[in-house]
Amino acid sequence: MTTTTARDPLVHRMRPFGTTIFTEMSALAARTGAVNLGQGFPDTDGPAEMLAAAAEALRGGQNQYPPMPGIPALRAAVAEHQRRFWDLSYDPDGEVVITAGATEAIAAAILGLCESGDEVVCFEPYYDSYAASIALAGAVRRPVTLRPAADGRYSFDPADLRAAFGPRTRLVLLNSPHNPTGKVFTADELALVAELCQEYGAYAVTDEVYEHLVYTDASTPHIPLASLPGMAERTLRVSSAGKTFSCTGWKVGWASGPAPLVSAVLRVKQFLTFVNGAPLQPAVAVALALGDDYYDNFRTTHQLRRDQLSAGLTDAGFDVLSAEGTYFVTADITALGGRDGVEFCRTLPERCGVVAIPSQVFYDNVDAGRRLVRFAFCKRSEVLAEAVDRLRTLR
Ligand code: PMP
Ligand code: GLN
Repeated sequence: MTTTTARDPLVHRMRPFGTTIFTEMSALAARTGAVNLGQGFPDTDGPAEMLAAAAEALRGGQNQYPPMPGIPALRAAVAEHQRRFWDLSYDPDGEVVITAGATEAIAAAILGLCESGDEVVCFEPYYDSYAASIALAGAVRRPVTLRPAADGRYSFDPADLRAAFGPRTRLVLLNSPHNPTGKVFTADELALVAELCQEYGAYAVTDEVYEHLVYTDASTPHIPLASLPGMAERTLRVSSAGKTFSCTGWKVGWASGPAPLVSAVLRVKQFLTFVNGAPLQPAVAVALALGDDYYDNFRTTHQLRRDQLSAGLTDAGFDVLSAEGTYFVTADITALGGRDGVEFCRTLPERCGVVAIPSQVFYDNVDAGRRLVRFAFCKRSEVLAEAVDRLRTLR
C-alpha cells in the first residue's frame, strides 16, 4: 500500500538539494581525522574587543528580542562602516537591516523580490544557498559561467551575460569577491552588469561578505556595485560579520539599500527569524569600528596564508588558479590524474588525510567545474603546512 507517509514529504522544489557539500565534507573530515580545508571557517578567534563586548552584553542582560531591524547601535555602525570604506551613504533608520547572517539577507531578498517564474542572473560557480533560495521562491536561475583564462584568472564572456538577461529578469545576484573562485570583479565587468540591470529594469543583490579580503596583488580593488552610476537606487548590498571578524558561527549579517528594497527584506525576515543574536549585535558594532590596523592586519595575514597554500599546492602537483580575494584558492586536478572533483574529494581523506570541496557542485554546467577543487586557507599556518605535507604524498 502506498501511503502519504511512505513518500518523501519534501516539496518538489527542494528535492534537487541534498545535504550541503559543507556538511558532507566536514563530517568526512571529523570521521577520518583529515585536515579540513573544506568548509570555510577560521580556526582562530576574532578581535578580543569584540569577544569582550559580547560577553559583557550577555552578562549585562541583553538577552531578549532586539528590535526587528537590529539594534540602533549596530545599524549605525553598519552605515558608518560603508561610508568609511566605500563612500556609500545609507540611513541607519530604514536603509539598513540586521539579519541572521548574509544567508538570511539573501534568502529574504529573493523571497521578497521575486514572483514565481521571475529570473535571477547569477555567476556560476555560485554559493550553494543561492540556488536553494531561488528555488524556494519559485524563481529561475540564469547562470553565467566563469572560466579560468590562460593567466589563471576567472572571467566570463560578455555575450553570455547579455544572453542571460531577458524580459523576466528580476534581479542579478553578484558575489564579489567571489566564493569559490577567489575572483574580484573588475570595473569593466561591473559596468556591464550595471548597464544590463538598467537596460532591463532589474535589481541587484550583492554578496560582499569578503569585502575586506582583496589582496594587494589583485588586478582590481573591491568595487561595490552600488557605487556605480545609477546603481545605488537598485542595489541591495549584503555583508556579514562572519568572515571579517572570524565569527562564522555568530550569523550576524546585514543588508543595506534604498528603503523599499530593505523594507521587502524586512517583511520576509520578520517571519523567518524575526531577530537574532541579541548579545552579539553590540559586539559586532564594536568590531566594525575597529581601526584600520585591524583590517590591514586581517588582509595581510590571509594574503600570507593564501601564498603559503598556493605555493604548497603547486609543489604538490596541482595547477593552482589565481585567488585575488576571499578565503579560498581553486586548483585543477588534471595533472594529478584527477578526472572528477567529487570523486577526488571523496577519496582524498583516505589517500592523504586532507578534505577539500569539489567546485563542480556550485555549477549548473557541471563540466565547466568538473576538474576544479577548492581549498580554504583561513587556517593557522601550521595547519596549512601539515595539509601541504600530506598533499605532497599524492605525487
Ligand atoms: N555568501 C558567501 C559568498 C559565502 O561564502 C558565505 C559563507 N560564509 C555566505 C554568503 C554566508 O554568510 P553567513 O554565514 O553570514 O550567512
Ligand atoms: N561559506 C562557507 C564556505 O563556502 C560555508 C558555509 C556553510 O557551511 N554553509 O565554505
